[in-house]
Amino acid sequence: MSASFPGPFTGGCLCGAVRYECGAVRYECGAEPMMPGHCHCRSCQKASGGGFITAFAVPEAAIEITGPVKYHESATDSGGTSRRGFCTECGSRLFGRSSNMPGLVAIMAGSMDDPSWLEPGMNIFTESAQPWSHMDPALPKFPALPKFPGMPAPSGG
Ligand SMILES: [Zn+2]
Ligand SMILES: [Zn+2]
Repeated sequence: MSASFPGPFTGGCLCGAVRYECGAVRYECGAEPMMPGHCHCRSCQKASGGGFITAFAVPEAAIEITGPVKYHESATDSGGTSRRGFCTECGSRLFGRSSNMPGLVAIMAGSMDDPSWLEPGMNIFTESAQPWSHMDPALPKFPALPKFPGMPAPSGG
């Protein structure tokens, strides 16, 4: 997918209390970050304070997190639950876990120490995108959450 994927990568929150390392220690599947893209759902807009968030997913087993992370749980449109993780010290949004993607952790792209290599591949939940969010016309747009081939079946919440 992204030719410039650097392999193991690190990141953390704004204040530095939360750090994570992905791939170097327990990267078991050898896969690159999955589903990199921009989410325009209203929950992400509310949680981030911006027009959309940019994130991607990795297997839970691939990431090691240290520091004070708190998760806020909310309901998703599809009837599941979404948990958004943030640093309790500075409030930076860092992680996401959803009943729609069991076994995976979403990472907020901007929290990486070097986010520049990521190649977002899509826009999702575009039906709630703000009129002032300008999207790359070369990327596919999905009005809601698309079905991803190879993704584990939803746990049913
Ligand atoms: Zn922090
Ligand atoms: Zn969203």
